[in-house]
Amino acid sequence: MASSERVLIAGGGPVGVVTALALAQRGFPVTVFEAGAAVNDAPRAATTHPATLELLAGLGLVDEVIRQGLTARTFQFRDRPSGALIAEFDHERLREDTPYPFVVQCEQHKLARLAIDRLGALPGVEVHFSARVADIDPRPGHVEVAVELSGRRRRFRGAFLVGADGGRSTVRKAAGIRFEGYTFPERFIVLTTRFDFAAERGYCYRNYFSDPDEWANLFKVAGDDGKGLWRVVFPTRADESDAAALGEAGVQQRIQRFFPRATPYEIVHRNLYKAHQRVAATFRQGRVLLAGDAAHVNNPIGGLGLNCGIHDGVELAQRLAAWSGADRNGDHELDLYDRRRRPLNIEFVQRQTVNNKKRLEEKDPAVRAANFEQLRQTAADPARHRQFLLHTSLIESVRKAALIT
Ligand SMILES: Cc1cc2nc3c(=O)[nH]c(=O)nc-3n(C[C@H](O)[C@H](O)[C@H](O)COP(=O)(O)OP(=O)(O)OC[C@H]3O[C@@H](n4cnc5c(N)ncnc54)[C@H](O)[C@@H]3O)c2cc1C
Repeated sequence: MASSERVLIAGGGPVGVVTALALAQRGFPVTVFEAGAAVNDAPRAATTHPATLELLAGLGLVDEVIRQGLTARTFQFRDRPSGALIAEFDHERLREDTPYPFVVQCEQHKLARLAIDRLGALPGVEVHFSARVADIDPRPGHVEVAVELSGRRRRFRGAFLVGADGGRSTVRKAAGIRFEGYTFPERFIVLTTRFDFAAERGYCYRNYFSDPDEWANLFKVAGDDGKGLWRVVFPTRADESDAAALGEAGVQQRIQRFFPRATPYEIVHRNLYKAHQRVAATFRQGRVLLAGDAAHVNNPIGGLGLNCGIHDGVELAQRLAAWSGADRNGDHELDLYDRRRRPLNIEFVQRQTVNNKKRLEEKDPAVRAANFEQLRQTAADPARHRQFLLHTSLIESVRKAALIT
């Protein structure tokens, strides 16, 4: 389907460029503005769930994502103080539900680069780096944006503007859309090391450790050289300074307390992140649409934020294509984007990540024991095991989206 309706996208993060690809494959001319000089390769998302792999297959990206990532069939919950394995979940239980009964650990910068490569082969696509959207000017029938591009301010015009410019979205703020929710007082520290926790300690590629004093997550990613990197995530103390958390002494103490070994760990990266639970009051205002972190942010336990952003991008392209096919007057199609994506984010991403964090940090021994028992029973019962995974993998969210018309 060809369309003369150019779509402007603020933000060339993974959601911006995947959305651009979904739109360009449907014939929309697209212009992406990315404030950074290159794709940001800070260690953030990697976990890509089955429902998202299905969407990436639709965009022709899944084989390369699988090739550049690591396939993780299982994930485990452990009690950190005792080290005991509480429950293991196996995506193989979803074999009848998805062609991808596994998670792929693929770093988000790899996905973004892949999408940008594919965009390069499509007509009508422009991707500008060092291009910051500074202001927006929604008009009846189109949107104009002011962009700081190579030191000059230029205006661009499009039929629609997608704000995919991350949690601090300029587009969302300029549109006056509230970002409702809260920010956690503690931050999350991510330590990256080559130490092989599978060979040395027998851990799988995705591990969640519950601890009343300091919970932890442990994941493996392939790394740019494919040799494998492990990311350990901890909360900081609310009163801990950045310097204390990121300093060599603090970093070694934190990782050694958890996984003691005779020699210091080689830390390849150390990063601190703020964590929030926030959802935009609307995902659509006239011809301005929000997607990804610009629309919703959540704590990373469960690996859902980017997954949900990719679901936004694919849905957005479907809605704009339907709008285009409905003689460009179908407000219903544009509203449907908000009516689907916003409640599904609250139900599947906000609730799940809040519960995941509570489960890991729970301090009451009786509640901890009850949580562990529930996990054990869920994992032991085939029907509940599958139902749990349908929820965590976002397959249930996709099925529910189809019911919202
Ligand atoms: C430690 C950690 C681990 C995570 N793990 C997972 C995981 O395993 N799975 C998962 O699904 N999610 C995970 N997430 C969440 C995930 O990283 C985000 O949801 C994801 O980055 C959102 O992508 P995005 O493109 O919407 O936003 P971003 O990645 O923030 O990209 C926004 C882009 O917009 C650009 N930009 C900003 N302002 C402007 C402007 N005014 N004009 C032009 N460009 C602009 C920025 O430079 C940036 O490149 C994790 C997050 C963290 C912090």
